[in-house]
Amino acid sequence: MKSCLFCKIINEEIPCNKVYEDDKILAFRDIKPEAPVHIVIIPKIHIESLNELSEQQSEVISHIFLKTKVIAEEQGIKDSGYRVVNNCGEHAGQTVQHIHFHILGGREFFWPPG
Ligand code: AMP
Ligand code: ZN
Repeated sequence: MKSCLFCKIINEEIPCNKVYEDDKILAFRDIKPEAPVHIVIIPKIHIESLNELSEQQSEVISHIFLKTKVIAEEQGIKDSGYRVVNNCGEHAGQTVQHIHFHILGGREFFWPPG
């Protein structure tokens, strides 16, 4: 998708601070971190949000979660704990219309988030 910010990062039209990449997914540091460790993990195929996720595409989401724990270990937050967040749509504050998961760690989080 030409106009999509995260597709541009995947296509290396925009730089990112990469922490993990394979043929299906990419993970990079969030440009505006909300925690000492704040990584965004995305599929390389353009899916607008969780609302648009189809059965055929769902395998990439389990792949994202399997790599999330690997990334958490590499970043030193696996044992202390971390939060994984998906914002879907307007009320959740989704600002980039390419499905992504935030991995947040290195500090304590509270529940409910407020
Ligand atoms: P969301 O608000 O859930 O849609 O999350 C989008 C995230 O992308 C925000 O946390 C932004 O700080 C982050 N972001 C936007 N542009 C970039 C960029 N060029 N590189 C890294 N992260 C970005
Ligand atoms: Zn995209």
